[in-house]
Amino acid sequence: MSKKLDSALKETGTRFRIFPQPRYVGYDPETITVSVPPDQIQDGPADDRMFVIDAVNKLPYGDFFGPPYTGKRNPPIQRGPQGHFDHLDPDSREFKCATMYATVRRVLDIWEDYFGHRIEWHFESDFARLELIPLIVWDNAQSGYGFLEFGYGREDSGSIDFTRPYCENFDVLAHELGHGIIFSQVGVPVSPNDPAIDYGGMHESAGDLVAIIAVLHFDTVVTRLLNNTCGNLFTVNELARVAELSKSRQIRIAFNSWRMSDVGEEPHERSLPLTGGIFDIMVEVFQKLLVGRGLITQDLADRSTTGPGGSQDLKRIDDDFKKAYKGHGDDFKDALLDARDYLGSLLAETWRSLARPNYLTYHDVLRALLRADRKLGGYHQETIRSCFAWRGISLLPGSILLRPRSLQHCGLKSLESPVTLGKATQANNGRRG
Ligand SMILES: [Zn+2]
Repeated sequence: MSKKLDSALKETGTRFRIFPQPRYVGYDPETITVSVPPDQIQDGPADDRMFVIDAVNKLPYGDFFGPPYTGKRNPPIQRGPQGHFDHLDPDSREFKCATMYATVRRVLDIWEDYFGHRIEWHFESDFARLELIPLIVWDNAQSGYGFLEFGYGREDSGSIDFTRPYCENFDVLAHELGHGIIFSQVGVPVSPNDPAIDYGGMHESAGDLVAIIAVLHFDTVVTRLLNNTCGNLFTVNELARVAELSKSRQIRIAFNSWRMSDVGEEPHERSLPLTGGIFDIMVEVFQKLLVGRGLITQDLADRSTTGPGGSQDLKRIDDDFKKAYKGHGDDFKDALLDARDYLGSLLAETWRSLARPNYLTYHDVLRALLRADRKLGGYHQETIRSCFAWRGISLLPGSILLRPRSLQHCGLKSLESPVTLGKATQANNGRRG
C-alpha cells in the first residue's frame, strides 16, 4: 500500500493492535488500521469479506468436513469505544481472535491497493466470505477452500505450545493469504500433463513475497532493519550475527543467497532463488534511490552489490554505510518505502500477466517482470536481468529459443537473386520448422 493511502486510512479505518513479528523475537504490539470504517465493522470481528469464528472443541477440517462451521463457539469479540478493537489485552484470547482478522484484512488491503482493484476470492462460487478460525487445539495450521484455521506451535518435547498460537504470527497468516491471492489472480494450470514444478515454486515464493512486502508496512520492522544494517541491505546475510534479525523467518527468506543450481524440485526449496532474485530487485532499486537522492555514492552502491563489481571488503562497506546513515534515518526510510511500493506494484502487474499459467517456468516469470517494469516506466530492465542472471534463472537448456537459426534453417542460403528466391521458396515450402 502506498505511503499516502496508508496515512489517509489512519483517519477513516478501524484500529487494532497486532504483533509485527512473534513475541519471542522481542516486538511489542503495534497499532494498525484496516480499511473498513468503524461504523461498518461488526463484532467478531467481521466484515463483508471475512469473519472470525472462535470455535470450541473443533476438529481440523478434512476431506469430508469443511466450512461453514456450525458447531460450538465462543461469543463474537465486542468492539470497543468508537468501534475500534485496540482496547484488547494482548494476553487475552479476544486479542488473538482479533489479531487474526486484523492481519488478514490488513494484508488484503495492502495488496488490493497494489493491484488497483478488489481481489475476489477464488472460492466465490461457494462462499461469499473467508472463514477465519483462530485457536483450535492442534499443533498445525491450514488454509483451504474458503477458510483459514490455525492452531499452535510445538514444544521441543512434541506437545502443543499454547504460548505460540499461529494466529498471532503475522508472517504465517500473510503467507497463507498470499496463496489465496495467487489462486485468485494467477489461477492454476489446467493441463494434466503439466508437472507444475516452477508453478509450485512460484506459489511458495509469492506467499513469502506477499508477507515480506506486508511486513515492511510496520514502522518498527523498517526502523529496526535500517538501524541494524544502516541501510546496507546486501550484506544482511553477514549480519545474521544480529540475533534479532536471524530469528525472523522473513529476514532469512528475503535475504537468501540460493541459486537454481542449489535447489531441487520441492516447492519450498525451489522458491528460494526466485524470492531472493525478486527481493534483490527491491534492494537494487533502494540503492538507486539512495544514490539519486545523494545519500550514498555510486561507488558505494557498486561495491555493495551482490552481482559483478561487488567488493569483498565488507568491513569498509559497513563503515561507509554507517557514515552515510548517521543523521539520515528518515531519508533512508523514505527510500526503502518507495522501493517497497515499486516492488509491490511490479509484483501485482507481474502476477496479473501470468494468468492461465500452463507449463509456467521461472523464465516466464522473468519476462513477466520485465513487461511489468515497462508498464511502470521501464527504469529497471537491466537490474531485473542481472538479479535473475545471478540466481541462475534463465531459459531451460535445449529451449527452442536458444537454437540459432542459420540461413539453411530458413531456406535462404542458396538464394542469389530475387528471381531464384521465388523458386527456392516454393521448393522449400513444407520443409520449414
Ligand atoms: Zn506456502
